[in-house]
Amino acid sequence: MGYTGSMLMLVAPSGAGKSSLVKALLEKDSAIQLSISCTTRSPRPGEENGREYHFLTKEDFLKRKEAGDFLEWAEVHGNYYGTSKSWIEAQMQSGKDVLLEIDWQGARQIQKMISDTIWIFILPPSIQALEERLRKRGQDDEKTILARVSAAKDELSHAREADYLVVNDLFESALFELRQIISTSRLRASSQLSKHHQLATELGLQ
Ligand code: 5GP
Repeated sequence: MGYTGSMLMLVAPSGAGKSSLVKALLEKDSAIQLSISCTTRSPRPGEENGREYHFLTKEDFLKRKEAGDFLEWAEVHGNYYGTSKSWIEAQMQSGKDVLLEIDWQGARQIQKMISDTIWIFILPPSIQALEERLRKRGQDDEKTILARVSAAKDELSHAREADYLVVNDLFESALFELRQIISTSRLRASSQLSKHHQLATELGLQ
């Protein structure tokens, strides 16, 4: 069997700064492939089909769900989101590490289904900082901001289920910690034995 890459799941409430961390991480580490999810929500200004998400109608999404196309799926803020099973399998079989930006419900499903997944949860340094980040976007009214803060607190209540927690206070430190977790994950015995297949056979470890 060829080397199987790691499955990295990144979960964070909105306002924790996940998108900037992911962007920087992908720029620095070309071995990581970002999974593009399917969603029934409408594209936001500047978003492109196939880049941020595959935007599907509810009908198409449900058809694909019934056909077993999704590794996991969840309803978040009234829209459906799902991860394509075939794409993930192909990437991992080719030895690439796959990064999933999903919510806690999806991470929980995958954690139960697949061993050796890495669930990383990004925490804001404080609730106040999270609120400030949400306000700085400047697009939402007060009611929407309060609803987002409440949703963020709900997401945060699942942080204990993750394998690793990264506090995004100083961006560079958080990025460094994230990269350390990923480097360490590549040294797990299961990863190393499949990567160094010949050595493992020679040493009688297979
Ligand atoms: P947004 O619509 O703001 O891009 O994402 C809303 C939430 O849906 C975020 O918490 C995001 O991580 C989550 N999400 C995005 N794609 C998926 C997915 O494929 N599966 C699951 N379970 N959640 C997702």
